[in-house]
Amino acid sequence: MTEQEFEQSGWTLEALLPAHEGKEFERILAGLEQQMAQFEAGRERLSPDMAADEFLDLMRCYEEIYVTVARLGGYAQLWFSEDTQSQAALGFLGRMEELSTDVQNRTLFFSLWWKGLDEEPAQRLIAASGDYAYYLESLRRFKPYTLSEAEERIINLKDVNGPNALVKLYEMITNRFTFTLDVDGEAKEMTRDELSTYVRDPSPEVRAAAYQELFRVYGDQGAVLAQIYNHRVRDWASENVALRGIGSPVAVRNLANDIPDPVVETLLSVCRSNMPLFHRYFRLKARWLGMDRLRRYDIYAPVRAAEKTYPFPEAAGLVLHSLNRFAPELAGHARRVFGDGHVDSEIRPGKRGGAFCAGVLPDVTPWVLVNYVGKTDDVFALAHEMGHAVHALMAGHHSAFTFHSALPLAETASVFSEMLLTDRLLSEEKDTAVRRDLLARMLDIAYATVARQAYFVLFELEAHRRAVEGATADDLCALYMDNLREQFADAVELSDDFCWEWIAIPHIYATPFYCYAYSFGQLLVLALYQQYREEGEPFVPRFLRVLAHGGSQSPESIISEAGFDIAAPEFWQGGFDVLQSMLDELENL
Ligand SMILES: [Zn+2]
Repeated sequence: MTEQEFEQSGWTLEALLPAHEGKEFERILAGLEQQMAQFEAGRERLSPDMAADEFLDLMRCYEEIYVTVARLGGYAQLWFSEDTQSQAALGFLGRMEELSTDVQNRTLFFSLWWKGLDEEPAQRLIAASGDYAYYLESLRRFKPYTLSEAEERIINLKDVNGPNALVKLYEMITNRFTFTLDVDGEAKEMTRDELSTYVRDPSPEVRAAAYQELFRVYGDQGAVLAQIYNHRVRDWASENVALRGIGSPVAVRNLANDIPDPVVETLLSVCRSNMPLFHRYFRLKARWLGMDRLRRYDIYAPVRAAEKTYPFPEAAGLVLHSLNRFAPELAGHARRVFGDGHVDSEIRPGKRGGAFCAGVLPDVTPWVLVNYVGKTDDVFALAHEMGHAVHALMAGHHSAFTFHSALPLAETASVFSEMLLTDRLLSEEKDTAVRRDLLARMLDIAYATVARQAYFVLFELEAHRRAVEGATADDLCALYMDNLREQFADAVELSDDFCWEWIAIPHIYATPFYCYAYSFGQLLVLALYQQYREEGEPFVPRFLRVLAHGGSQSPESIISEAGFDIAAPEFWQGGFDVLQSMLDELENL
């Protein structure tokens, strides 16, 4: 098959909105107002014994409103991303945000009614609601743990100035931090983001200095930040565990993710028992750097052996070809994204940095943004975002409420697409330096997303338990050092300054236990990839089924329906087996 070549270009947003002003645009706004009026009129028909088809009519109307708002909001977001300096785009974005808030407020009555409905009528309506079912179930997931209306109102009220205020204070304090680092003999003041780039500096002194400065600044406010954490964590337990009766602090997050508690326990324990693999990798990395032993400061030291670049048409071809080798259906979807002009790959002043994919609506070709320079990482970013796009198109037959996959499965196609690209590149690469870079890249990512994040959550599990028993800042620091000592064993030299690392992780304040979603998503894909290696062709349709479900069922039932068992340790171990084989090759290079 000869591939059509795709050049670096901007994108077109026509499929979302023909214009952002003028007659046609006004017509869309008027249509939305009409839909809203129709939906609001349905309010008085809401009752536990309403007919199923009447309920479905209302759901369809709700979906139409959602679709229109997603069109307008999606357009605003994408326009702003392509040109963050445009006053017109900024103005339109603000206007659409207001519109979306207004729509949310005016439609809120429906979800409130739905969440309050008794179990029996709710089940009757869910049974008749087809593709909307999982969405409707999800809205009610916290129902068994909901308190009386008066209690809920008090909690809402007290949250504003309680836990929400604590998180805001944490952000206010830490966002003001400035850091000073000697760069080329000159003291430079910088933000945390800027400082973070120096932990990847080629110089060992600079890497150490960057970390020391980070923890000096956080450590100065250590007592206050630790106290904020303590209050946050105790409030989490007193509300969710004591009042609502959810089994444990982490179970609150599991419920939100719709993942059974034992699956998360299995995931974490498999991560824990596979740390020796990373210890081997760190020893290897120390050899590459000419050190006896890696210091914790050197984990992200650059070890690139080759400097290879790829012109954009070649990168697009590589991504398409690696998808095509796995399943032509996926390559077909990716070709559609390129062909429809939905990829903004150019480098332009004012364009948003980084990369993302916006799958705005079912069966509307998603939009992909990358800032393509031609480095290996850029090719992988393209493969990653194209994976998201392909996932959205595979699930295009679902409703607007159920085609987006839930958080734990959201990275399935994107990371899988990166794996396919890795294999595609390795299969032809003879240059050992390039091979080394490709394999080391995978192990670096696996450490940062699988192991490190799992250890954050292991710390949280212990910290939440100890905080309610009255742990002090010093206790929590000691606990964190124990966590690091287990994580690195004797493969990495630890220094005491890392005892403050935990107070520098915003996620554990804002969204407790969130971090395991990273480990889950990444390791899930590695485990699926291992299944692919073992099974070959028969694996393909099973994997495509996982993608085609989108977010129309719980993560566990989507995966088990395709014949995989995420409750089994062996399944997760498969993910580490992939890494093991990569590490074996690295050691032999
Ligand atoms: Zn992603």
